[in-house]
Amino acid sequence: MSAVGSAGGSCPISIEFFPTKTPEGAVKLRAVRQQLYALQPQFCSVTYGAGGSTQEGTFAMVGEILAEGQSAAAHFSCIGATRASVRAELAQLQAMGVTRLVALRGDLPSGYGLGGEFQYASDLVEFIRTETGDHFYIEVAAYPEVHPQARSPEADLQAFAAKVRAGANSAITQYFFNADAYFRFIDDTQRLGLDMPVVPGIMPILGATQLMRFSDACGAEIPRWLRLRLQSLGDDTASIRAFGLDVITRLCEQLRSGGAPALHFYSMNQSAATLELCRRLGVCNTNTPTSSDVFVPIA
Ligand code: FAD
Repeated sequence: MSAVGSAGGSCPISIEFFPTKTPEGAVKLRAVRQQLYALQPQFCSVTYGAGGSTQEGTFAMVGEILAEGQSAAAHFSCIGATRASVRAELAQLQAMGVTRLVALRGDLPSGYGLGGEFQYASDLVEFIRTETGDHFYIEVAAYPEVHPQARSPEADLQAFAAKVRAGANSAITQYFFNADAYFRFIDDTQRLGLDMPVVPGIMPILGATQLMRFSDACGAEIPRWLRLRLQSLGDDTASIRAFGLDVITRLCEQLRSGGAPALHFYSMNQSAATLELCRRLGVCNTNTPTSSDVFVPIA
């Protein structure tokens, strides 16, 4: 495996967290964040409504990250929301000093109707621009392997273009394991004249079952060779993680040498994998801790 350490220092990264459900989890996550700050992320983002957490949890963690002296982005989903509720939440974020959003449609738990006054993320981006002008730097989601509900790849690309034209500044992708899907997506956006950074989302491989469940739900394809290799490792978590680090390091190297503008790490609220990936890639700091906090799940 080739090393990219020589070019490593200049690769911007960002790191994603999700709100914790318990006070104990919040304490553990503070320690995880401190370890990851050694990587000097451009910003840390906090998901919205994921895993049954609430908007309150998202905003509270964004406030904590800002208070820790880091740049923070609030994910913001509009499904089921009204213009009045979005207006009020935007005002709250502005008052907190938040200047960066990841604007999303989001998903409702099954059994809920769509409801609300926003149908797509492009409606939300447009509304944010109308209400708050250039206050927020707006990221949107991109799907190199096509969003699972899209009518067709071309329709999904047009949906992405609508978000850009509504005023998004840049995009973060759903995770994927096939670099060609990302490069094809970039070619397609350039064909449409959409000149904006599209940052690949990087999912560390922490466990086979969890990864397969997530991937089925969000439409990320696990290539046959990868699925079979993971299955062959059974419950041997240490081997899965060691293998996963090799696979994801290689993916990041391909993405960087192909021109990816930055890397966005789905930390899964853990530090070890992101730290180790960045160490292997030569990203940022030489004093990056080699984490002793190894893969402790946070509730
Ligand atoms: P949209 O861009 O609105 O697209 C949704 C679907 O509608 C797509 O199939 C698209 O092709 C289609 N579509 C869009 N516009 C049109 C149109 N005009 N006509 C016809 N079809 C159209 N979820 C959370 O709940 N919380 C989070 O914090 C969160 N963070 C995420 C971060 C990233 C980087 C990514 C990639 C995803 C995240 N998600 C999150 C998941 C996301 O909410 C889901 O993937 C959701 O199903 C789609 O959201 P979107 O913003 O991409 O929607």
